[in-house]
Amino acid sequence: MSDKLHARLSPSSSGRWLNCSYSAQKDLPELTNAAAVEGNEAHDWAAEVVMKRVRLDQVPSHLQDGIGRYAAHIFENGGTPYCEQMWESFAIDDFFGTIDCLLINDDKAAIYDYKTGKWPVDAEGNTQLLCYAAIVAEHFNIDEFFGVIVQPNAFRGSKIKTAEFTPREVERHRKRVARAAVSDEKKVGDWCRFCPLRLTDQCYEGLQHGVIRGW
Ligand code: SF4
Repeated sequence: MSDKLHARLSPSSSGRWLNCSYSAQKDLPELTNAAAVEGNEAHDWAAEVVMKRVRLDQVPSHLQDGIGRYAAHIFENGGTPYCEQMWESFAIDDFFGTIDCLLINDDKAAIYDYKTGKWPVDAEGNTQLLCYAAIVAEHFNIDEFFGVIVQPNAFRGSKIKTAEFTPREVERHRKRVARAAVSDEKKVGDWCRFCPLRLTDQCYEGLQHGVIRGW
């Protein structure tokens, strides 16, 4: 989900700023849309169900299938769930985000991301999940990390995708974030598409890239 309080290094936009660290700016223009509002509603209900504060049949009917799959996956794995909680890095400034559900079971951590969009998102190599894992590694002693994408509206592929990340991969990712944190290199690419600087005409190079790609 989106990070409610925006970090300069927000895991949810890491696919962009890990490639173009120039775009990791503190006061990026805030762009909201109807899909984000709908996503927030689904996340709020999902957390209530996982924390057993409401029953699934109390959830709006159009959300019941997706939230039911999400909650069932979490319950099946067991452990302690932390829902919709903000987690912050101690080591890297302005690197924090809200994890939809963090499940801790001894030395295992599962990071759940509930996606409401239709475009399929993979768990393997997912920089958002890896960012969260890097932050979680600062709070708990974890030997096994799992990332889980639950995406009930995905137009193709599985509705639930999982990946396992080794502590070494997570540490490698943390170093990548640390490098991006002290760089302001500008680099165009596919990640420009949803960059707030491009969408508000503040990045000439990004705009040119968009023109070339026909966006
Ligand atoms: S639009 Fe500009 S600032 Fe944004 S990601 Fe692209 S190159 Fe970077």
